[in-house]
Amino acid sequence: MNLIDGKAISAKCKEEVRLEAIEMAKNGVKPGLAVILVGEDKASQTYVASKEKACKMCEINSFMYRLDAETSEAALLDLISDLNQNDEVDGILVQLPLPKHIDTNKILEAIDPNKDVDGFSAINVGRLVSGLDSFVPCTPLGIMRLFKDYGIDLVGKNALVIGRSNIVGKPMANLLLNASASVSVVHSKTKNLEFYTKNADIIVVAIGRPNFLKAEMVKDGAVVIDVGINRLDDGRLVGDADFDGLKDKCSFITPVPGGVGPMTIAMLLKNTIQAAKNRQKR
Ligand code: NAD
Repeated sequence: MNLIDGKAISAKCKEEVRLEAIEMAKNGVKPGLAVILVGEDKASQTYVASKEKACKMCEINSFMYRLDAETSEAALLDLISDLNQNDEVDGILVQLPLPKHIDTNKILEAIDPNKDVDGFSAINVGRLVSGLDSFVPCTPLGIMRLFKDYGIDLVGKNALVIGRSNIVGKPMANLLLNASASVSVVHSKTKNLEFYTKNADIIVVAIGRPNFLKAEMVKDGAVVIDVGINRLDDGRLVGDADFDGLKDKCSFITPVPGGVGPMTIAMLLKNTIQAAKNRQKR
C-alpha cells in the first residue's frame, strides 16, 4: 500500500502559489480573494478562518465578509455585485451552506464566472463538461493533482465515483472522463453497488457515511480516494472508507485526515492565482 500524503502535496502547491504571487507582485499585481460567510455555522467559521490564514501565507490579499445570519438575499446580491466590479478582487467565494431564506443557486449564479474560483456557476460547470478551460471545484481539482503527483495513470481505467453532489461527485466524474478514464457514478439509489466497486481500478468515495467502503467491496490493487469527513461520537475524524481494513488491499489510499482535505484550500489558492492571471490578459 502507498499512502497518498495530501498534506505534503498541499504544502508543495501552496509554495508554488506563494512563489507565483511574489512574481506577480513584481509587476504590481496582488491577487485577491473575497470570502463571504453568512451566519455562525461552526464548521464554516473554521473553514473560512483557514482560508484567510492560507491567503496570508501565500501573499494573496483576503477580503473577509462575516455577515449575520439574518442578512437578506438582496443584501448579499448587492455585495456580490460590488465585488464583481472591484478590481482588487480576483476570486469570490461564498461559504456554503447558506441560511435557508437565501436561494443558493441565485447567489452562485450572481458571481462573475471569471471570479468564480469555486467553479460552481453554470457557466463553469458547462465549460468543464465540454472539456474547455474553466474554474474547477477545488476538492476534485485537488484529487486530480494527487493522481498527477503520485503518477497514477487514469487512461482507460475503470474509475468509480460514489456520490453525485455538485461539489464533489459530478465534477469529479467529468474530470476523470476528460482524462480518458471509463467512469461510473453511483449514489444512494444505486442497486447492487458492489458490482461497481468490485470492478473499479480507481474509487473516489464522497458520501458522508463513516467507514462505508469496506475491503471486501474492492478488488486487489485498487486506488481509493476518500473525500468523506465524518466526526464520530467519540470525537474521532474518519472518512467514508474503512482505512484500516482497506490499506493492505489497495495500491494507493488517502488517509482521513491528511489526504484529500488539505488539497481543497491549496486548489482554491491556485484558482485565485489563475483568476488574477486571466484578468491581466483581458
Ligand atoms: P452530499 O452530502 O451533498 O451528497 C452525498 C452523496 O452521497 C449523494 O449524492 C448521495 O446520493 C450519496 N450517498 C449517500 N449515501 C449513499 C450510499 N449509502 N451509497 C451510495 N451513495 C450514497 O455530498 P458532498 O457534499 O459531496 O460530501 C460528501 C462527503 O465529503 C462529506 O463527508 C463531506 O464532509 C465531505 N467533503 C469533503 C471535502 C474535502 O475538502 N475533503 C469537500 C467536500 C465534501
